[in-house]
Amino acid sequence: MDGHCDALTKLYLNPELNFHKEEVCLEVNYPRLQRAGVKVQCFAIYISEKIQAPSFEHVLQMIDVFHRKILSHKGMAFIQTVSDWLTVEKSDKIGAVLTLEGLDALAGNMTHLRILYHLGVRSIGLTWNYANWAADGVQEPRKGGFTLKGKHMLRELEAMGIIVDVSHLSEKAFWELVELYRRPFIASHSNAGTLCPHPRNLSDEQIKTIIECHGQIGITFVPYFVKSGNSPVQISQLLTHIDHVCSLGGEKHVGFGSDFDGIEQWIVGLEHAGQYENIIEALCKNYKEEQVERFLYGNWRKFMLSHLPK
Ligand SMILES: [Zn+2]
Repeated sequence: MDGHCDALTKLYLNPELNFHKEEVCLEVNYPRLQRAGVKVQCFAIYISEKIQAPSFEHVLQMIDVFHRKILSHKGMAFIQTVSDWLTVEKSDKIGAVLTLEGLDALAGNMTHLRILYHLGVRSIGLTWNYANWAADGVQEPRKGGFTLKGKHMLRELEAMGIIVDVSHLSEKAFWELVELYRRPFIASHSNAGTLCPHPRNLSDEQIKTIIECHGQIGITFVPYFVKSGNSPVQISQLLTHIDHVCSLGGEKHVGFGSDFDGIEQWIVGLEHAGQYENIIEALCKNYKEEQVERFLYGNWRKFMLSHLPK
């Protein structure tokens, strides 16, 4: 399972792209997922920075694209519930989970939030890199936490059981969330800051907190979140982040969140979703089979089956 990609944003911005074909410019497309054996892929609704004044209308348009361009492939199936997941597992279909990256376009409207839940959105990243009406992102210079409205939204998310995703969230907001929010949460595409000090990565304290709350961390393929410096990044270096999370007690709480189609640089041998075999090969050299299975699928599966509605 892959916990995060931006293929939906690319499909939305460029109507020429075809998810059904082996499209070079679309790192996540059906033939590649199929070839690599990806069973469940999360698709994020991310309103590109290119769009001025993001609104709820844009979110709805992207959900329309999700149905028309992705779910229209007969090999794909929409996962909204535990029962959908188990049905997908018994079939040869690939499951698609719909997520939202950044609350910006909701403008504090709780009805819009509930409508997204009705439309099948099951996980919400609170911010992108900058501040929105709810909270500050990791790149916001003032390094603030939640707004009052944002705290109210958190309670609503908790009551509805939408999975909260803290990737991109400022550190101050992260710790406020730990105080305020009582459910397990995830970081769908973030790495270990101890190995690569980047604001998008998580400190050891943050990683330990996610582990203790029985959350889930998706190790991401963004080269500059894996290693500082300009030399090409290898898959073996990506796996040091898995090692690190395991060393903090996270063997059962770590998986992958590629960020494919949201990146412009790639790890060597990990340029698109069709190349998972390279990561599997590297994992198999270092870990027992049951651990490899956990990192690639089992940990995400356990988390999702515990938090999706029945
Ligand atoms: Zn992101």
